[in-house]
Amino acid sequence: MKIGTLGAGLCGLAAAHTLNGAAECTIFEKYDTAGGCMASKTYGSYRLETLYHHCFSGDSVLFALLEELGLKDDLLWLKGSTGYYAKGKLEPVTTPSEILKWSALTLPQKARLALFVLSARSFDADALDSITASSYLKEKVGDGVYKAFFAPLLRSKFGPKADSVSAAWLMSRVAIRSDRGTEGERLGYLKGGWHRLTDAFCALLTQKGCTIKTGCPVTSIAYEDGKWLINGEAFDAVISTIPPQELGKICKTPHALQCPKVPYQGAACLTMGLKKDPAKGIYWTNMGEESPYGAVVVHTNFAPFEWYGEHVAYLTSYFTGSVPENLKERMITDFTRRFGLERSDITHADLYIEQLAGPVFETGYKKRIPPLTLGPRFYSAGMFSEENYPERSMEGSLKAGIRAAEQLLSDIREETKGETKAEPKEETTEA
Ligand SMILES: Cc1cc2nc3c(=O)[nH]c(=O)nc-3n(C[C@H](O)[C@H](O)[C@H](O)COP(=O)(O)OP(=O)(O)OC[C@H]3O[C@@H](n4cnc5c(N)ncnc54)[C@H](O)[C@@H]3O)c2cc1C
Repeated sequence: MKIGTLGAGLCGLAAAHTLNGAAECTIFEKYDTAGGCMASKTYGSYRLETLYHHCFSGDSVLFALLEELGLKDDLLWLKGSTGYYAKGKLEPVTTPSEILKWSALTLPQKARLALFVLSARSFDADALDSITASSYLKEKVGDGVYKAFFAPLLRSKFGPKADSVSAAWLMSRVAIRSDRGTEGERLGYLKGGWHRLTDAFCALLTQKGCTIKTGCPVTSIAYEDGKWLINGEAFDAVISTIPPQELGKICKTPHALQCPKVPYQGAACLTMGLKKDPAKGIYWTNMGEESPYGAVVVHTNFAPFEWYGEHVAYLTSYFTGSVPENLKERMITDFTRRFGLERSDITHADLYIEQLAGPVFETGYKKRIPPLTLGPRFYSAGMFSEENYPERSMEGSLKAGIRAAEQLLSDIREETKGETKAEPKEETTEA
């Protein structure tokens, strides 16, 4: 049995891992490295994720994988301090005393916000799927807190789509980020970087006979005589982990496959080496003002500075459609001005663009989650799958890949059972 997998992100790797031993697996990856959204790049003497990544305390599938790869002991729980930038100043908002001093909200507004955050510990995602985050927030925390705190965050994360995002997404986001003690939240990071996970995962798969073809975009899929042809090569089954609308473009058999359209957005992330810490020791600063980036993520205020030998920061932004013009320059100009740096404090700056960085969970998404099975022995899973709803994560993509492979194996078992049952019948007839 030959199985082709599209995409060497966590979902594709997890699918191949689950199929291990039961099938001969080939993974096609368009980029030169595996890892997808979690892939890393070399910057001088260190490797770093092109898009900031940390994990959360409930990521049990990820932990099991790290255990299997011999990396579990290297998972560190680091302090994820937070800040908020508004009215020209950066304020820390990690500890209760910092939140009390925070000037963006009045005391009653802070109390309302705190109660709202507590309510996120149990919420009904199904019921909130059809309500917009903005209307829900206005009702729960009032216009003042909405305008001063949430509106800029929603705008920076979803741009023009900010008003259509569901309250289910919002509450899952609040819930995941509110798992914190008095010293703030603890977030998981792999000693040395997540590339160690991707490298070890790929090495294990290769050792077990899986072929990983990097630098190999899939440009055509066709169905002929019961076989799937991926770039002309025949396979018995396919697991696609690429965005469904991309799949629709390369699929030459539109009648056999229904590829749903999922609203996606792009991510633009500037990775910089810096001579100074721009954020007073804070890891994650949300921008409460209009700026070309929504957050400043100072990686070396999270992972130890010694691993890198310089301060490392990301400026993050999301976009819909095309990348805003002259974005890198606008980001740098704005960042140096607001955070008191000279251009010469930036030792390197690399703008990474991912056009399809993830689905936008607009209202009603739950009912539109694409099906797992798109055609005969053809499965589709990834950031758009139910495991990643209402918020995508490494954990969700691992689970989605595992479920796709399990479904494939189960379907094959059913087919084989049917054949085995049919055989004695034929023999009886012949006899
Ligand atoms: C900015 C950002 C920050 C994030 N931070 C976190 C975080 O802190 N914690 C967390 O848990 N999650 C985080 N995530 C989410 C997490 O990265 C994803 O859920 C997960 O990595 C997605 O894995 P995937 O395999 O489903 O998809 P992808 O990683 O998108 O993998 C799909 C793969 O398919 C390949 N591909 C696409 N088209 C083709 C083609 N035609 N032919 C061959 N290959 C193709 C792509 O190159 C890619 O490698 C973040 C995501 C983003 C965008």
